[in-house]
Amino acid sequence: MKTAKPRHSFAFLGVFLLVLVVYPRAGAQAPTQTKARQVVLKGARLIDGTGRPAIENSVLVIEGKQIVAAGKAGAVSIPKDAAVEDVSGKTIMPAIINLHGHLGLSNNGADSAAGHYTEENVAKQLNKYLSYGVATMASFGQDDDLIFSIRADQHAGKIGGARFFAAGRGFLEPGKANPADHRYRPQTAEEARADVRELATHHPDYLKMWVDDGLGHGTKMKPEIYRAIIDEAHKQHFRAFAHEYYLADAKSLLAAGLDGFAHSIRDQAVDNELIAAMKARGVFLIPTLVRDEVLFAYADNLKWVDDPFFQAGLEPGALAIIRSSQTVDKIRQDPDIAKYRAGLEMAKKNLKALSAAGVKIAFGTDSGIPTRFPGYLEHRELQLMVEAGLTPMQAIVAATGTNAEILGGAKQFGTLQAGRAAEFIVLDANPLDDIRNTEKLSAVWQAGKPVPSVSAKSTSTRASRQ
Ligand SMILES: [Zn+2]
Repeated sequence: MKTAKPRHSFAFLGVFLLVLVVYPRAGAQAPTQTKARQVVLKGARLIDGTGRPAIENSVLVIEGKQIVAAGKAGAVSIPKDAAVEDVSGKTIMPAIINLHGHLGLSNNGADSAAGHYTEENVAKQLNKYLSYGVATMASFGQDDDLIFSIRADQHAGKIGGARFFAAGRGFLEPGKANPADHRYRPQTAEEARADVRELATHHPDYLKMWVDDGLGHGTKMKPEIYRAIIDEAHKQHFRAFAHEYYLADAKSLLAAGLDGFAHSIRDQAVDNELIAAMKARGVFLIPTLVRDEVLFAYADNLKWVDDPFFQAGLEPGALAIIRSSQTVDKIRQDPDIAKYRAGLEMAKKNLKALSAAGVKIAFGTDSGIPTRFPGYLEHRELQLMVEAGLTPMQAIVAATGTNAEILGGAKQFGTLQAGRAAEFIVLDANPLDDIRNTEKLSAVWQAGKPVPSVSAKSTSTRASRQ
């Protein structure tokens, strides 16, 4: 780095960024010989993601890719040579973490033909997430094995966008497989164990399976299969998460040692037996309320479909697909549409009950499946969680500190504390007053610098700052 005398302006940041981009990967240590100039954002309301009350008039000190101090003005001193930006009136909160998403299953977000599972397309979706302030996502199965080399490329700094974790292919009940669907479909417990061991050779971050009968239209994975999968996953030292729908299956999965629920329970109200079993082992639940809302949102033309912040991030052609009579008629003619609506209402009631009982509530959307758009849906999910009765702070903590802890990254990212990655969003209004204010996205920061973010004011992404 040049030793030009530092000035208190962001003109310096240009030089600063050139130095940073050669560092190997997000989260990696910067070489100590090139100590980066510190950057300070002062005056904002700071929501740190731990659940502690927001700090009014905060000071956030960033060095390289990391936060070195965060706290109240006066309590945190501003380093002498730091580049200081006054962000009074703004709110800063950690970047969102989506614990349930999918990659490579669509090209423009709405289409679903096979052949999209490429590194280029996955990278495009990771960048889409990031542009909406989602800096971490967890792919929950339906991956090709290619995901593991893409993950290695991301760790090597070859692709950017949101940091991701991956389950790999995932496990489904046996049946006719679509050739583009590479999920494991074990017929016996022995096959299930062999498949888990094969998966283990790729070092997945966790395992995902589906235990559901699609509202009675399909076959459900047999208990002896999922028991073998969970047991073998634990023997291979990774956790097992399940797509589930019914309360009875949830209890049976818990008894088998399941580590997390990928969706809400939607057939009936949760009970004390379930709550006690979840709390005993710290098992989390990801509500994915927006997943159920999308099942009818485009036919109902819900208000958010017209939201400029939603439309600003859409790829060319996507809006035409979700507004087409083909899409709308298909939804309207779906005989299960009343069940989807009822399922969402049950999911909301259960979320409120589980949260009140102290069960660990995670955050995820199931975005990345065609017509479930990465990036925007995470903001909509926060709104639905608040509609369900959570406070904005509870929804934000689920999406930040709690999810980071579940992913084993609590010391690295997810909260705005010293030693964590400088990954956050800057908002023009306070989401604790109205959770919809997360859409008032002023800037997205990753690895200690602003990155291009979606703006509701235009229909394209923009660089939030030079
Ligand atoms: Zn999913």
